[in-house]
Amino acid sequence: MKHSVDEAFGRQVQQIISGEVFFNEPMNRHASLGVGGNADVFACPENEREVVGLVGFLVDRDIPFYPVGNCTNLVVRDGGYRGVLISLRRLQGLEMRTDSTEEILLYAEAGVSLARLTEFTLRESLAGLEFCAGIPGTLGGALRMNAGAWGSEMKNIVSSVHLLAPGRKIEEIPRSRLSFSYRNLDLPRGGVITAALLALRRGRRESIKTRVEEIMAEREKRHPLTFRSAGSVFKNPAGTPAGRLIEETGLKGLRVGDAVVSEQHGNFIVNTGAARAHDILALIEIVRRTVKEQRGIELKTEIVIIGDEQ
Ligand SMILES: Cc1cc2nc3c(=O)[nH]c(=O)nc-3n(C[C@H](O)[C@H](O)[C@H](O)COP(=O)(O)OP(=O)(O)OC[C@H]3O[C@@H](n4cnc5c(N)ncnc54)[C@H](O)[C@@H]3O)c2cc1C
Repeated sequence: MKHSVDEAFGRQVQQIISGEVFFNEPMNRHASLGVGGNADVFACPENEREVVGLVGFLVDRDIPFYPVGNCTNLVVRDGGYRGVLISLRRLQGLEMRTDSTEEILLYAEAGVSLARLTEFTLRESLAGLEFCAGIPGTLGGALRMNAGAWGSEMKNIVSSVHLLAPGRKIEEIPRSRLSFSYRNLDLPRGGVITAALLALRRGRRESIKTRVEEIMAEREKRHPLTFRSAGSVFKNPAGTPAGRLIEETGLKGLRVGDAVVSEQHGNFIVNTGAARAHDILALIEIVRRTVKEQRGIELKTEIVIIGDEQ
């Protein structure tokens, strides 16, 4: 890093960002798992203009940065993140843009939560987004992760994405130029999604409501929602869901410190108290090794792991 993240740097960032800027910020305060070391800076721009200003400023100074949303799929190692975590959670624009066909286009900024989107689409009787009910992230994070459930995924409802790549202006990228795969959208290094257009259909409010309620009830039954977690830890390999493999290998209930493989769902690791990132990561390694030894299957993590070892 050519420039250090010192006080003078902090003051400059505060000139660009009117929203919250935290220094030496413990990420266990933000991550849904409740673990994570300190980020040098955790900045929450208020709008696209501030995102563009901040990214330009950091690129010019060669300071590392990384976009985040609600940190519901993220583990920052206990040594923390050297550089600036840019949370898009304050970008909250949301409006309908209808075109001439049956398809309804919904414009939403990256920080809009999937919960707010689900509520909005229910109120407006728009179908297509029901599968997002109960997923706790932001739209930006959901796009980057190609979040999915119940047989659908973000890829199916995206019309275009507003992308800020370092050294460029914000560009609207149509779906035909977006490369989605299972729980992934390829982005250029340092690429930040600031907004998206979602293509939805007119639906019947009662059937949308019923579907959302069914999904929420299923989630409550299947997922350990009373504990802190980051959702599914591993991607499902072809054939058998990761949760079933973990259960069949007898790993449910396995514990490292306060990190535990959930008794309720094998693919969830929960923080039952004061777990640290290294407890979560140690448990992930044990699960991965055991499943490989017993079933010959290489599990890959779905959750994103960044930052330094302690
Ligand atoms: C209880 C629970 C249940 C869950 N259920 C599901 C589920 O059913 N299906 C599913 O797919 N996921 C699920 N998740 C995981 C998670 O909620 C989703 O992946 C979510 O979409 C992540 O959004 P986020 O804003 O929290 O992203 P973060 O965790 O903050 O970030 C995740 C990744 O997205 C990137 N990112 C975030 N915002 C942007 C942006 N604006 N531009 C570019 N990159 C960005 C980050 O760099 C990082 O790589 C669950 C999590 C929990 C805790």
